[in-house]
Amino acid sequence: MIDFSTLDKIVRENNSFLLTTHVNPDADAIGSEIAFYMLLKKLGKTVYIINHSGTPYNLAFLDKDNIIEIYENEKHDKLFNEVDVLVALDFNNLKRTVGMETVFSECRKLKVCIDHHQNPAEFADNYYFDVNYAATGHVIFDFIKKTAVVELCLNIAVPIYAAIMTDTGSFRFHSTTSEIHRICAELIDIGVNPNDVYNRIFDESRYSKIRLLGESLSTIRMNSTGEIAYIIITREILGMSGAEEAEVDGFVNFCLSIKGVKIGILFFELTDGIKVSFRSKGTIPVNKLAAEFGGGGHINASGTRLFNASLQDYAGLIIKTAEKYL
Ligand code: 5GP
Ligand code: MN
Repeated sequence: MIDFSTLDKIVRENNSFLLTTHVNPDADAIGSEIAFYMLLKKLGKTVYIINHSGTPYNLAFLDKDNIIEIYENEKHDKLFNEVDVLVALDFNNLKRTVGMETVFSECRKLKVCIDHHQNPAEFADNYYFDVNYAATGHVIFDFIKKTAVVELCLNIAVPIYAAIMTDTGSFRFHSTTSEIHRICAELIDIGVNPNDVYNRIFDESRYSKIRLLGESLSTIRMNSTGEIAYIIITREILGMSGAEEAEVDGFVNFCLSIKGVKIGILFFELTDGIKVSFRSKGTIPVNKLAAEFGGGGHINASGTRLFNASLQDYAGLIIKTAEKYL
């Protein structure tokens, strides 16, 4: 578990903070940002949230006051050098901030990383991370409980609940412990409505997303042993559905829902390369598989982005490499 004493001092003794998260933010990314923002605002601090990507529409309810800004260099670079502290949430490699990598790394302010991924890269002064946490939102919850830096309130509880619910796969991954349920019970006692949070995130999809899901599932194939299933989403398929890139989130899990499949892979064609998502069952370390292609993540969920790469060159190679992990 994490020692939060220095983080407690950092948030109390500094006045202004800039929070950011990874490209294509999920509910843990946005939820952690909003929860930490609310915490800092309770302490009377000046806080900005600047992200590379826009917030997916199903997560907009977490940012009801429209606090999150999309990074523009002319507008925001100065801000990076004006605030006291930069806070990196839910990622541990600056590559994952895409367009913000340079300004973040060149900035000389105190940098803090709060996360739950393995093997952080060296880019921050202080790290508060442990892979035993189910979500970055869980780390923030623990920080609040251990230090009593602020009192939990509904504005903090909702984004933390959303972070934990989604990063545990709606309470079905191995990270779903009795402690996680006790934490969520406490969040519900504060006033979180689990049904409302779930519905907003998962049951208010656009028609285009469900059409894309249908098209994507029709591309599913298996390797010769039936242990790897993969989906390939080309620009053509995406264009036909009218859906957005972020709406692909979660599709890869269907690969693992096939009996006997141990590794699921989703190939997604970008305008300038490909994005690959890996999922696995049991002890198969797909973070190592992703690392072979410049990516990373967790043991059972990882990914990479390959720029200037094509599906033709990489899909076969990646499937072959995945077979080594079976
Ligand atoms: P997803 O497949 O849902 O985009 O990502 C699953 C997990 O893989 C993320 O939570 C993150 O830990 C990791 N991941 C995804 N893309 C990348 C990437 O480009 N680089 C690294 N280092 N990790 C990634
Ligand atoms: Mn996370």
